[in-house]
Amino acid sequence: MENTGKVPGKRHSKNFSDLTGQRFHRLTFLEFVEKTEGGNARWKVRCDCGVEFVVTAANVKSGCTRSCGCYRIEQVRIRNQKRKRRHESTGKQVQKDSPHR
Ligand SMILES: [Zn+2]
Repeated sequence: MENTGKVPGKRHSKNFSDLTGQRFHRLTFLEFVEKTEGGNARWKVRCDCGVEFVVTAANVKSGCTRSCGCYRIEQVRIRNQKRKRRHESTGKQVQKDSPHR
């Protein structure tokens, strides 16, 4: 007479959605951390670059937080590279001599 008290897989706290493993932009949700007084869920996330930090889930969902900050840095770097490249290409002299002729 064994009573395998199977508990239906329902969680008590339905106030926050389980985001574990979900990806938004560069961030992957790792684990729920806490709920703030304002009712916002705070989650531990990992950025594609490997940095782990805690964010407010709403900020990630709304797109306010897309990375640990590396995305912005990258964008600036790309912009700078483009500017640099353009500068270099205008300074380059194209050689017209073709050895085949
Ligand atoms: Zn990052």
